[in-house]
Amino acid sequence: METKDILLDLRTRHGLSQGELAEKVFVTRQAVSRWETGETVPNTETLKLLSGLYDVSINTLLGSPRKLVCQCCGMPLEDPILGRNRDGSLNEDYCKWCYADGTFTYSDQDELIDVCVPNMVSRGFTEEQARALLRETLPELDYWMHLAEHSDGGRFEALKKQLLDELNALSVPGLPKVERLYALLGRDVNLSYPLPGGGSARFLNDETTYLGNQLPSETEKGRCFGVLANADFLLVCTYGEGGSDPQLILYQKRDPAGVGKD
Ligand SMILES: [Zn+2]
Repeated sequence: METKDILLDLRTRHGLSQGELAEKVFVTRQAVSRWETGETVPNTETLKLLSGLYDVSINTLLGSPRKLVCQCCGMPLEDPILGRNRDGSLNEDYCKWCYADGTFTYSDQDELIDVCVPNMVSRGFTEEQARALLRETLPELDYWMHLAEHSDGGRFEALKKQLLDELNALSVPGLPKVERLYALLGRDVNLSYPLPGGGSARFLNDETTYLGNQLPSETEKGRCFGVLANADFLLVCTYGEGGSDPQLILYQKRDPAGVGKD
């Protein structure tokens, strides 16, 4: 689709008249009309406003002239899996697993490869092929070529290490030592736990990225521990195969003042 058709389509799908849209993005109704006849294209600032208003990328507004690829993991990007900047706007350079809320998830290629390989194997690659392909392609991506510039001075790595220490200090019976935390999307790990008084509850936001891992229980055969954390809380649960019969073991608010104390 061309930009003019995309803009017309989005405006009508959002139930806006030309005049209503014009008011929202600070242009005249005539300007909106000219976009939709293809006479003109919105300028950069207006494209940003439209992107925010419709929650679609500027690339999509312009008819997808660029084939977007995550500049950290190499995954082809579509709007629903774009990462978001701290202000909630879409970031067209990274997927939401590599970049969330203005923070990069990975600073180590080996760790990223360990996460990507199982996904690629499920799409038909052999493990060896997947590793070889990632080894070859990752170093060429912008994020890894300019790692130092993207680095947050080690703050994210420090948080990960701190969360690992705090999870291990809980000494939950049967929970093996947690060595690594991976970026996990809330939607994929948002189990519904039965509450003691009846009913059930979920604790995660589907669209937020958390740090977590799954470990086999040392005491109960066939059950796994799930650990999840971010700057605000620690969560430990157990579940059976495929997340069945989930039990919440612990959900604890973190003390932000504890960060950096050792
Ligand atoms: Zn990515």
